[in-house]
Amino acid sequence: MLFTPSLRSFFDSRVPSSCLLCHGAVRGLKPLCSGCEQDLPWNTCACLRCAIPMHTAGYFCGECLQAPPVFKHALCAFRYEEPVAGLLNRYKHSGKLACGHWLAQGLADAIARHYGKRQMALPDCVMPVPLHWRRLRSRGFDQGGEIGKVLARRLALPVSSALRRQRYTSSQQALNREQRQHNLAGAFALQAPLPYRSVALVDDVLTTGSTAHEITALLQSGGVEEVHIWAIARTP
Ligand SMILES: [Zn+2]
Ligand SMILES: [Zn+2]
Repeated sequence: MLFTPSLRSFFDSRVPSSCLLCHGAVRGLKPLCSGCEQDLPWNTCACLRCAIPMHTAGYFCGECLQAPPVFKHALCAFRYEEPVAGLLNRYKHSGKLACGHWLAQGLADAIARHYGKRQMALPDCVMPVPLHWRRLRSRGFDQGGEIGKVLARRLALPVSSALRRQRYTSSQQALNREQRQHNLAGAFALQAPLPYRSVALVDDVLTTGSTAHEITALLQSGGVEEVHIWAIARTP
């Protein structure tokens, strides 16, 4: 595993020697013990198109069979349930970057396994869903950007920062699908032409897919043929 000097010092100073979940002993630079890691809600049984959790692996969900989403493929490492929801919360709202980096490494490993097993080509670049500068200022770090950096490093892909959030949008959490689409209309823009045929859009959680849908349409209008969605966790 490769660490930049800043990340290494971060791990050295911040990662506890006990598991974040069970407080048992942890070997190496990891926030969780191997038992807790194995017990996480890995999203291994999921729709091959939209990554929604299913009971059986290797199929498309009913919704994707009827009306497939505009993006080509979604992959999420975990189901959005405890303790992953709590770990993501610590990452986003308490600035526990080590949690986020570790979850992103889990996602990178899941991507490498999934694409390798199916002999699917990885997209040409990683593109994090950008935060608006106002939210970046209040949070102090860019959650999607940090995940994107880990994925890019581990999968040897370039990061594109051509996507900008040009309008501040209120939190999507309490909104239904229609309200989310309205909230997001015109929120994103491309700052530069994209030299890529396929793009992996990276976010922390994939929920209704409204953000993914909005940005995919924008990328397709900019000449991108295939958009893949990679997120740490998927809501049911
Ligand atoms: Zn543990
Ligand atoms: Zn589906």
